[in-house]
Amino acid sequence: MMKNVKHAKCVKCGKIYEAAPSITSCACGGILDIIYDYEYIKTKLTKETLAARRDHTMWRYRELLPVEETTEAPPLRVGCSPLYEAKALASQLGLRQLYIKDDGINPTASLKDRASSMAVAKAVEAGAKVIACSSTGNAASSLAGNAAAAGIKTYIFVPSRAPKGKVAQLMTFGAVVISVQGSYEETFALSRQAIEKWGWYNRNAAVNPYLSEGKKTVGLEIMEQLNWEVPDYIAISVGDGCTIAGLWKGLKDLYAIGFIDKLPRLISAQAEGCCPINRAIETGGDWHPMEENTLADSIAVGVPRNADKALMAIRESGGLTVNVSDSEIMAAQKLLGRTCGVFGEPAGVTGAAGLKKLCGQGKIPAGATVVSVVTGNGLKDVANAIASCGEPISIPSDMGLLLEAFSSRSIIVE
Ligand SMILES: *Cc1c(COP(=O)(O)O)cnc(C)c1O
Ligand SMILES: [Zn+2]
Repeated sequence: MMKNVKHAKCVKCGKIYEAAPSITSCACGGILDIIYDYEYIKTKLTKETLAARRDHTMWRYRELLPVEETTEAPPLRVGCSPLYEAKALASQLGLRQLYIKDDGINPTASLKDRASSMAVAKAVEAGAKVIACSSTGNAASSLAGNAAAAGIKTYIFVPSRAPKGKVAQLMTFGAVVISVQGSYEETFALSRQAIEKWGWYNRNAAVNPYLSEGKKTVGLEIMEQLNWEVPDYIAISVGDGCTIAGLWKGLKDLYAIGFIDKLPRLISAQAEGCCPINRAIETGGDWHPMEENTLADSIAVGVPRNADKALMAIRESGGLTVNVSDSEIMAAQKLLGRTCGVFGEPAGVTGAAGLKKLCGQGKIPAGATVVSVVTGNGLKDVANAIASCGEPISIPSDMGLLLEAFSSRSIIVE
């Protein structure tokens, strides 16, 4: 029995379930939310006990995580990613304070490791020998890596458009990889049938309510790193919606146990060519499927599986939505690289692209403090980065040619 967890509750119909390790969705089709006993947690966790902890991984927040006290943290070192103050970029955007949370430094190079570490812990509790998922790429490579380290076999379904870097990770981690010739929607459908047929542990963010509990640690960390001083906004990219919902859950947890006294507003950034969640917010209605037209493959999700949780998070926070074009995304990738030394994949920098756009439109007050989360590393998709930033100067080893190259490009050597 988990002492810190009361039960799981359907976000749609409110039905209550016992929080067993392999629960999935509600009978009504709604996704479940894990409900905590905050009074109990308050007696176990204080800011001081936390500050004294040597564990510099996401598992340092164990009292707020839905696992048995005896469950061991999986082997890979996930979380506690750096939060950089980006002074030059802040002044370019006209912000008082801007922080970049670089989640691309996780073991498999994306924020998805937070969910996968949790999935592996819960699969071990369930006694599962196999985990499966469908993914646009990062959830897959992340699951494959975290499961490999724990000695668990994986079956992975990815759409055939997944970039080479992510597929290379999958093959290296030894997953059985099924590259589905079709959209993410079609990939998901096949994985669901296979999981049903063989009874594998399910790491689909759509159905496994524990994943956003792993992802929420990004919010816990941001607040601890800011010494519990709540920023005005947190910008993050949105695909399925599990990440932004997780971030919000973490912040609300901290509010519930009295670690913070207010909540920030979320900035939900999506690609113009695939923005069903933002469109629902903007029109004030329900979401409708969209095509998946963006090079930010990790957020090319036309049928979001965590829309209910994400919409609730954005609305509750009084959040802003912003949709960016692929060229705005690639410009943000360059900007972050050049001002912060942070290399994010296209979906990884979509939050920053959205923030830049909102600043340009005067929608963020100049005195605001903002955190922008980079959700994945740029090395996952080098083809798009080279296409946007260009090729290097290529010459034989000859000083004369170097001088010529500099002068023909008007490079002034300092
Ligand atoms: C998965 C992912 C997202 C979006 O997360 P969702 O839970 O699908 O909304 C954003 N950026 C990167 C790099 C991702 O891999
Ligand atoms: Zn229900």
